[in-house]
Amino acid sequence: MTAITNHLPTAELQALDAAHHLHPFTHAAGLAARGARIITRAEGVRLWDSDGNEILDGMAGLWCVNIGYGRAELAEVAARQMRELPFYNTFFQTSHVPAIALAARLAELAPGDLNHAFFAGSGSEANDTNIRLVRHYWARLGKPGKRVIISRRNGYHGSTMGGASLGGMTPMHEQGGLPIPDIVHIDQPYWYGEGGAQSAEEFGRDRARQLEQMIDRLGEDRVAAFIAEPVQGAGGVIIPPESYWPEIARICAEREILLIVDEVICGFGRTGQWFGSQHYGVQPDIITVAKGLSSGYVPIGASIISDRVAEVIGGDEFNHGYTYSGHPVAAAVALENLRILEEENILGHVRSTAAPALARVWERLGDHPLVGETCSLGLIAGLALTPDKARRAPFAAPSGTAGLICRERCFANNLVMRHVGDRMVVAPPLVIRPADIDLLAERAWRALDETHAALREQGLMAAA
Ligand SMILES: *Cc1c(COP(=O)(O)O)cnc(C)c1O
Repeated sequence: MTAITNHLPTAELQALDAAHHLHPFTHAAGLAARGARIITRAEGVRLWDSDGNEILDGMAGLWCVNIGYGRAELAEVAARQMRELPFYNTFFQTSHVPAIALAARLAELAPGDLNHAFFAGSGSEANDTNIRLVRHYWARLGKPGKRVIISRRNGYHGSTMGGASLGGMTPMHEQGGLPIPDIVHIDQPYWYGEGGAQSAEEFGRDRARQLEQMIDRLGEDRVAAFIAEPVQGAGGVIIPPESYWPEIARICAEREILLIVDEVICGFGRTGQWFGSQHYGVQPDIITVAKGLSSGYVPIGASIISDRVAEVIGGDEFNHGYTYSGHPVAAAVALENLRILEEENILGHVRSTAAPALARVWERLGDHPLVGETCSLGLIAGLALTPDKARRAPFAAPSGTAGLICRERCFANNLVMRHVGDRMVVAPPLVIRPADIDLLAERAWRALDETHAALREQGLMAAA
């Protein structure tokens, strides 16, 4: 174990952190008042904090540590690669073995004719690449007017200017002048929250048809692409009705637009398949990958592009790239991660063992008086907190009030479960065993009980 064990006492670390470290998606003053939780090491599906508490990581870090923590093989591959060739670029007609090998491996794994990888340092960067790529694609075909990318409200595609613009997160758009031009959003297929009296199937079809309606409204000659996550992750684990993706696929086949499927969370086993689009039987023109590509051990992302699109883009110089596109250490670690996922049949474990076990305990959480719905697919699951199960009612209190209390109660019970508004979500490492899935559910139930008590005590059980 190579953790930094001689670190300062927790309170001093927290003070330095608050004084000098501005955190992503964090209220800095609130953090300074309470002090950050400082994670010092991890193994398998468990984290340890600077006070020695052992915590079950229901989130695989940030949806990314698919093979679990502490795999020495990845560290060894990284060290070997750093000694041999720590950096070289892939610009200007140069290449190196790790980038070549990873691109070839991704071509094998990705569905259909997705045979070309353009590397990035993250999912956000890869989606920025996609914006430029699809617009350039149509321009090269003599249709420079096809620039608009249709995305979805409450979708998440990263936090760069492009990624956050593609995303449909209002709080992100409110800061920094987003979205950038020529990105529009349609509604999400969130039946529980927005489906009203419609059946899930009907609702799913209607939400998909908004794509068709938006194309008609804008004119097909202005639309470059549609982008969506197979299952929305950061939006609260929204699993679309079964009718949704087939209808999207139909529309994309009938219309002259590209389909970008953002697999940053769903890719590399999360749904039990290599890619979420395979679960839904859709064939994208481009997929975005990151997170599980390296199981989060090093930063890397990519756009994986079809033969058709790559051929058009390749006919000209694409004036785009990142210093770290195909970084050799990141590529080597990603390759090793993919080797482990395959050789240890981790996807098989998800399909035959872990996903059914999670589905069972998760469904049981639905019996809790505070839980309005539960859903899961593979090893990604969400549930909605509600003050009134029968009416699927949201809370009268601002969205996220109950969710935040629940997240805090989870942490107090040594479980990382995230909240998105008043939905609670989990996406544990894919290697999680049934006993730990039971433990996850046990702690989640206790946290729900404590949340329920706290909400009643604070008079927050009123429905909107
Ligand atoms: C996390 C995420 C991204 C952004 O990836 P980063 O590596 O954080 O830039 C993009 N799309 C989806 C679906 C994600 O979950």
